[in-house]
Amino acid sequence: MFIGHYGPAFAGKAAVRSVPLWVMFVAVQFMDLLWSVLVLAGIEKVRIVPGLMQGSDLDLFYMPYTHSLAGAAALAVLFGALIALAAGRRRAGVFAACAAAVFSHWLLDLVVHRPDLMIYDGVKAGFGLWRWLWISLPLELISLTLGAWVYVRRVPARRGGNLIFWGFVALLAAVQLYTSFGSPLTSIKGAATTALVAYIVLAGAAALVDLTRAKQAGGA
Ligand SMILES: [Zn+2]
Repeated sequence: MFIGHYGPAFAGKAAVRSVPLWVMFVAVQFMDLLWSVLVLAGIEKVRIVPGLMQGSDLDLFYMPYTHSLAGAAALAVLFGALIALAAGRRRAGVFAACAAAVFSHWLLDLVVHRPDLMIYDGVKAGFGLWRWLWISLPLELISLTLGAWVYVRRVPARRGGNLIFWGFVALLAAVQLYTSFGSPLTSIKGAATTALVAYIVLAGAAALVDLTRAKQAGGA
């Protein structure tokens, strides 16, 4: 899953408004950010198999650190603890929201990936909905839209903020469509680098979206 991961980021921000949206954007892709780095470093491994699944050509045969159940849980706790420490107040809520945002990545990946997510030694899980683009693509967009809807209801906007916000959501959907129907992947290094850059740029854009929302008045 790609853009669908941002649904929980929006919902997480709606739940704990003291956390910047860009932090939530990093949280929901934290596993993939590290995956990109570890793939570029040659530590986690993937190969491109054209036509493997309609939704993805990536054979993710070795990613025990970032995408195993234990790895995901550890990264969720680590990220949640770091942000809670930085938060200073309402730390329990911040920890819970950020850790849940990180772990939501694993749950959504579980739905679309082939069985490549390690549960424990030798046992891997994945429901494989990437096999059917007509199922996986709407799922991405539904997750994104549901999160966005919760966000708009809970996070007050400055004047024009909601218009800008829905423009941003449309941009995210367009990025997903480009990924689904654009030119196929040709190199692993290229794929990992593109993912890394995309996650960073989108988190930056989320920081700009934060500027279009009203300051919170003492709430969480
Ligand atoms: Zn992932």
